Amino acid sequence: MRSTMMDYPLVLPSILKRAKEVHPHKEIVTKWHDNSIQRLTYGEFYKRTIRLMSALRKAGVKPGDAIATFCLNHSVHLELYFAIPSIRAVLHTINIRLFPEQLTYIINEAKDKFIFVDKSLALAIEKNLSQIHGVQKFIIIDDKENVPFPNLPNAISYEDFLKTGDEIENFEPIDEFEAAGICYTSGTTGNPKGVVYSHRSTYLHSMSICMGDALCIREAETVLPVVPMFHVNSWGIPFASVMTGCKLVFPGKHLLGAGLAELLESEEVTLTAGVPTVWNVLYQHLKKTKYNLKLHTMVVGGSAAPRGLIEGFEKDFGISILHAWGMTETSPVGTVSHLRGFMKDWNGNKRYSYRAKQGVPVPGVEIRAIDDNGKDVPKDGKTPGELLVRGPWIAASYKSGESSESFTSDGWFRTGDVVVLDEFGYMQITDRKKDLIKTRGEWISSVDMENLVMADPNVLEAAVVGRKDPVRDEAPVIFVVPVEGKEVDPKGIHDRLKENFAHWQLPKLDDIRSVSAIPKTSVGKFDKKILRKELEE
Ligand code: ADP
Repeated sequence: MRSTMMDYPLVLPSILKRAKEVHPHKEIVTKWHDNSIQRLTYGEFYKRTIRLMSALRKAGVKPGDAIATFCLNHSVHLELYFAIPSIRAVLHTINIRLFPEQLTYIINEAKDKFIFVDKSLALAIEKNLSQIHGVQKFIIIDDKENVPFPNLPNAISYEDFLKTGDEIENFEPIDEFEAAGICYTSGTTGNPKGVVYSHRSTYLHSMSICMGDALCIREAETVLPVVPMFHVNSWGIPFASVMTGCKLVFPGKHLLGAGLAELLESEEVTLTAGVPTVWNVLYQHLKKTKYNLKLHTMVVGGSAAPRGLIEGFEKDFGISILHAWGMTETSPVGTVSHLRGFMKDWNGNKRYSYRAKQGVPVPGVEIRAIDDNGKDVPKDGKTPGELLVRGPWIAASYKSGESSESFTSDGWFRTGDVVVLDEFGYMQITDRKKDLIKTRGEWISSVDMENLVMADPNVLEAAVVGRKDPVRDEAPVIFVVPVEGKEVDPKGIHDRLKENFAHWQLPKLDDIRSVSAIPKTSVGKFDKKILRKELEE
């Protein structure tokens, strides 16, 4: 029997139109580089977005064309988020921190036709222009930084480009399976790979992350995404926020310590999201300077949220860290760690060890973990397996068909993450396959070791990688960054590790090294490729 329901496509213009109809007076706030605050209502944002759609069409953009952005988080980026897919073109958000070879590779691979660039970031494009092919126009966004207008071919200012369009509503029918956006993996373990999202996958992902058991985005919140709009679409938060009509606050380049704390305070932000390194810096800053924050939830993902950080924010500031896991290939939100009803009153070790897990799949996503023989591992909280995932916003292939071994013949995506699952279905990442350290034929989880070291209040950050060892195959080396004014105590760290790791897993004392900083990838993860290379050299 067929249903009697409408065939109503799940497409992004519906989100845009609802925001204008239902929440025309809600605000989108941007703090620009010169500290000026811009306030737009959703009604004004809508008018600018339909004008941009018209300007893009008049400039020759056709359905299927890739249009790129090279920008920080601000309201113009949000206009591009909606205008580009609404004319059936494809939004390609470029990571501004890529190495030149990766940058030019992905622009050429995506066949970007136009690139919208923040004025202060344009130099990175200018320098690599000779390697970039096929881009017809550069549209320059005035981010209020005191730098000259860039020297790029066919460059026009964003506001002048906008004037070429008409403020008319012209929405064409869109097949929900058409491409809406392209993101490339951040290349932590290899070359960036393109993932193409559909209108449908983006729409469903937005609905899902709004749920109370997911990121709890709703109209009454004020949301500030710190996670860049070029890092898996800021984890889908801009789309979800416009879907709910919540007040949105964009921090531009004000992403650390005081600049961020002041904006959180002045705009009365209640919910924010970003990678752990950002929150580490904020935590240290909040300990020194008092703010009157309304913040209740911080979504943390991209790398494991250290348990000490979760405990610190909750106990010291009453702010709850919501630990989430995801990948470029999963749009990105796959799992979120909320305490279940019956766990709410758990305290101490039990509470924080659960809060530090990556959690359970959000409705719509399925996960499982398999061993080397392809068999499901038991849900015992200790047997590791590779995480597999499937669902309506999970990639079924890469843009150019590479890495087909990542997709199983029966429709699952192999994440390359090593996890354990427990009796309640909570997933915990123990490592990425490529980061595991092999000692005498057994594996050591670098993540477990890092978490234990970072639980020390004198430690700001710690990263563990393997070095070649003639006896043990590989031996762990711990790079430790002490909190300002403190010193690393290798003996103390070693003693602490002894309580949780077998003796054959322990690092030598002189493999616990104090460093001033740990190199980070373009999206703020520990760059273990660089650390391993340093060790080899
Ligand atoms: P890249 O694969 O280049 O790092 P992604 O940004 O897509 O690019 O990263 C996805 C990976 O990040 C995951 O496979 C996982 O290893 C890691 N990751 C994401 N969220 C978490 C988390 N909450 N805890 C631990 N690791 C995480």
